[in-house]
Amino acid sequence: MAWKITIDEDKCIGCGECADICPSEVYEIVNEKAKPVNADECVGCESCVETCEQGAITVEEV
Ligand code: SF4
Ligand code: SF4
Repeated sequence: MAWKITIDEDKCIGCGECADICPSEVYEIVNEKAKPVNADECVGCESCVETCEQGAITVEEV
């Protein structure tokens, strides 16, 4: 199973909450925006989606 992560950079404020909660260390914060640098490690738990108060993250099965 693979997961596609999309960050809406207009909404992301670089708070790092997604990076903190992700069990697979998918995210890095680069230039104050979340980047899914290890997207291949995503397990689709959607913890990041629930945690992001900006609603900036979408995770979908591909
Ligand atoms: S939790 Fe949301 S606003 Fe915060 S860094 Fe992650 S994507 Fe950006
Ligand atoms: S869905 Fe889960 S594993 Fe995937 S990036 Fe979000 S928190 Fe990490």
